[in-house]
Amino acid sequence: MKVVTTIEQVRQQVKAWRQAGCSVGLVPTMGYLHEGHQSLMSAAKKDNQKVIVTIFVNPIQFGPSEDLASYPRDLERDKIACEQMGVDLIFCPSASEMYDANFNSYVDVNDLTDALCGKRRLGHFKGVCTVVTKLFNITQPDRAYFGQKDAQQLAVIKRMVDDLNFNVDIIGCPIVREADGLAKSSRNSYLSEVERAAAVCLYQAIECAKDQIKQGEKSVATITQAMHNVIAKQSLAKIDYIEFVDLTTLKAVDSLEQDSLCALAVYIGKTRLIDNFIYQHSGR
Ligand code: AMP
Repeated sequence: MKVVTTIEQVRQQVKAWRQAGCSVGLVPTMGYLHEGHQSLMSAAKKDNQKVIVTIFVNPIQFGPSEDLASYPRDLERDKIACEQMGVDLIFCPSASEMYDANFNSYVDVNDLTDALCGKRRLGHFKGVCTVVTKLFNITQPDRAYFGQKDAQQLAVIKRMVDDLNFNVDIIGCPIVREADGLAKSSRNSYLSEVERAAAVCLYQAIECAKDQIKQGEKSVATITQAMHNVIAKQSLAKIDYIEFVDLTTLKAVDSLEQDSLCALAVYIGKTRLIDNFIYQHSGR
């Protein structure tokens, strides 16, 4: 496995692979890797002859009051996690390698980015779309792998790739969870022991919603109220949002009559956690 920090080094490697007729899979990450990231690597490994993991804490997707400075980083541990999965190349550039002093071009997807997390994290998805575009241009992958854990990000990137005719297949991968159901996340490392115990309420709320749906409930107001009630039992939890939206447009739905995404964001202490599940209308 090679570890490189410059765009030029990536281009040279990818060119050599292309000349040898190899397909390339890309897994973009911000590092501090866990089994969720590794599941994307495993999917990429199955579909492609070569796998690139990028590790870059992208400054332009963080708001001024967000956790850019404190975001967890451990490149040495990340190298081991990638090596275990048979990754071929890690690209871990500096911020100045990705954004030179005169940088001034952005990719912005409308509408979808105003919903859900976009309401609180202004400019976040513009930062994500811009860096993902750059990573696609640098690595020229056949396929790129994203987690359903960040459901809005996945929807926005699919829209961007369709709208702008990127020649890459976007593969969504299922959420990997801890034994108690908490979705794995690099940000879980911020949680104290009591916060970690409280954080399971996101998953409990999802399970509660699924139970209600199984019993035939279709009213989004009724289901989200039940989810609120589950989370309200945890004094450390403060709900940012719980919403049901159309899977493609991310527009709010009132009643479960179509495939929908149920997404929630909850503060546990100061840490903002997200989770979601997909309701499949035809599957019931
Ligand atoms: P991040 O490093 O948090 O930016 O995540 C990089 C990629 O890993 C994104 O596509 C995430 O959706 C995905 N990811 C993060 N956590 C999980 C998880 N628990 N299960 C599946 N994919 C995940």
